[in-house]
Amino acid sequence: MSKELNQLAKKFHAYLRKEYSDIKTILKYRTQFQLLVSIVLSAQTTDENVNKATKGLFKEYPNAKSLGSAKLKSIERLVFSTGFYKVKSKNIHALSKILVKEYNSRIPKTIEELVKLPGVGRKTASVFLAETFDHPTIAVDTHVLRVSHRLGLSTKRHDPVQTEKELKLLFPKDFWRYLSMSFVQFGRDICDAKKPLCDVCDFNNSCKYYLSLNT
Ligand code: SF4
Repeated sequence: MSKELNQLAKKFHAYLRKEYSDIKTILKYRTQFQLLVSIVLSAQTTDENVNKATKGLFKEYPNAKSLGSAKLKSIERLVFSTGFYKVKSKNIHALSKILVKEYNSRIPKTIEELVKLPGVGRKTASVFLAETFDHPTIAVDTHVLRVSHRLGLSTKRHDPVQTEKELKLLFPKDFWRYLSMSFVQFGRDICDAKKPLCDVCDFNNSCKYYLSLNT
């Protein structure tokens, strides 16, 4: 790993810590089960949208037992506004049943077990573990992939597993659980997918993407 890359990661880390010091999820939940369901529902939609839907959903079905016993149609009606509602409803319904049957309504604490649940991929599992158990894990989504690769902090634009490995080498462990949310916010504020604000970005003098456009 080059000295320049380490320096860039160090500078970016300091910047994110300063700019997003109080960053935390805005998903509203009262239990680990509700958080897991909320994260599953958050695919392809905003957290605000999820909160609107889960307000009604958790009122009727607050736990795995009640959601697992609910009629699928009723769940679909309640999560309709989050998009892809048929698949999401099926997943949270099946996931609830499995939790009741195989885990006594507890949520597993490892990525390996979590990803076996319907609708739970590696990213969902990482977000959940980072939020609930302070696990040293990095959730890599499309924003993390984009920002990392543009800056040159990662080498594989479309490979979340490799990107997670590379980021773990560059950032201190106590930052991993905040990294994803900070990168996402930086992506929203500055490094937008379509219109990045490169001219005002603090990292334009070392950003691989920006430099490639201006050479
Ligand atoms: S210079 Fe542009 S592309 Fe690079 S990190 Fe900043 S906003 Fe993103």
